[in-house]
Amino acid sequence: MPDATLPHIAGDAAALTIQQRELIALAATLGRERFAPRAARWDREASFPFDNFVDLRNAGLLGICVPRAHGGLGADFATYVMVAAELGRHCGSTALSFNMHVCSTMWSGFIADSLDMTAAERTEHERIRGIHYGRVVGQGKVYSQPFSEGGAAAAGKAPWGTLASHADGGGYHVRGKKIFASLSGAADYYGVLCTLEDTAHGGGNLRDSLYLAVPADAPGVKVTGDWDPLGMRGTVSRTLLLDDVWVPEEARLMPEGLYFQAAQRYPHMFATLSPTYMGIAQAAYDFSVAYLRGEVPNTPPVKRRMYPTKQIAVAEMRIKLEQTRALFLQSAREARVDPDKDARMRLLAAHYSIMENANDICRVAVRTCGGQAMLKSLPLERLYRDSRCGSLMLPWTAELCVDRLGRECLYESGERDEPIEA
Ligand SMILES: Cc1cc2nc3c(=O)[nH]c(=O)nc-3n(C[C@H](O)[C@H](O)[C@H](O)COP(=O)(O)OP(=O)(O)OC[C@H]3O[C@@H](n4cnc5c(N)ncnc54)[C@H](O)[C@@H]3O)c2cc1C
Repeated sequence: MPDATLPHIAGDAAALTIQQRELIALAATLGRERFAPRAARWDREASFPFDNFVDLRNAGLLGICVPRAHGGLGADFATYVMVAAELGRHCGSTALSFNMHVCSTMWSGFIADSLDMTAAERTEHERIRGIHYGRVVGQGKVYSQPFSEGGAAAAGKAPWGTLASHADGGGYHVRGKKIFASLSGAADYYGVLCTLEDTAHGGGNLRDSLYLAVPADAPGVKVTGDWDPLGMRGTVSRTLLLDDVWVPEEARLMPEGLYFQAAQRYPHMFATLSPTYMGIAQAAYDFSVAYLRGEVPNTPPVKRRMYPTKQIAVAEMRIKLEQTRALFLQSAREARVDPDKDARMRLLAAHYSIMENANDICRVAVRTCGGQAMLKSLPLERLYRDSRCGSLMLPWTAELCVDRLGRECLYESGERDEPIEA
């Protein structure tokens, strides 16, 4: 159960569905009792939180977004992101890695269901995703989501440099390189975005994106490089090399061409990274309150709450937290296919605000709590480092959110400017 003395991650719990309340309570219990005590270890070692994934598996949460018809919990977008935020409150690396796994099931699940497909494509997709969901729900397999390549593709500005082609006799050959592949060496399947080179109309374009689950043990798959970053160290996001890897037809997580449609019509699919940082913002606030009250376990019971400057700082943190939560919850509940322009703009504003405010709340928390609070024996300095990573993450870095939002504010669909005369 969430600790009743702490703010609920979703604000007013009475406004939630029964499933939302139960799953958030489950995440809170796991987070408080298991993930928070282990978080320093993954951070110190830059090692993957395998123990936490055992707990997530045993709790049935690997199937949180798997449709009920396939044995999962059938959570919708809003339910999932609230659970993700609660997990992020206790271990950022676990929540972020878990998100990469959940996206594989969400994109192939209710997002794919909301898009246009022929009847034959839908039937075939239902068959294939049943195989993937069977692995997740029945065998506890973990998927990841490496799409970054170090070029313009992850920002959606160019086709994926990782290429796939149809194999003689069925299936696909895949070759390329993915950077920042969270869960590298830990996932059972890598959900790789690539460009299909040989479609009926030629291939090689943005529209020809293909989403394939590559088995981690397939010949030609290799994890390389170091992992010693500033924050989110437990994600173990090393480099993935795909050297002419063959995968069967059933590796498709979406029908050919559907990812492009999803990216155009379901923008919330790109906003599943920020809930982790909503949780980190909450954790920094929770810590500051406990610290200023002299109630952090294993520290001297020194109260600092009586100083007006501390009260002002913590009030400012709470204001920023509530502003962030309000946008987070509203945009979470607006997730749907073809959201209107206002909802799209609010989504970008929400994603930007969560990523930037999480880091800012952590910054104020370190300054306000003071020197003893930033020792590595306490979680605050880790929250501060983890929070710095959010706005760097593609496809919606803080800069790219601002770029898109600015254009959406000033231009209607299809509008162009006259060339400026010299
Ligand atoms: C902890 C962590 C875990 C991650 N896990 C994953 C994962 O599991 N899967 C995955 O695919 N990726 C993952 N990433 C990668 C992440 O999503 C980004 O791809 C990565 O951080 C981008 O780094 P880069 O230096 O290559 O970015 P670049 O693309 O070089 O961008 C550098 C800067 O330029 C800006 N920029 C980029 N393109 C444009 C443009 N077109 N117009 C204007 N400005 C632009 C960006 O805003 C950014 O500030 C992870 C990253 C981190 C930090």
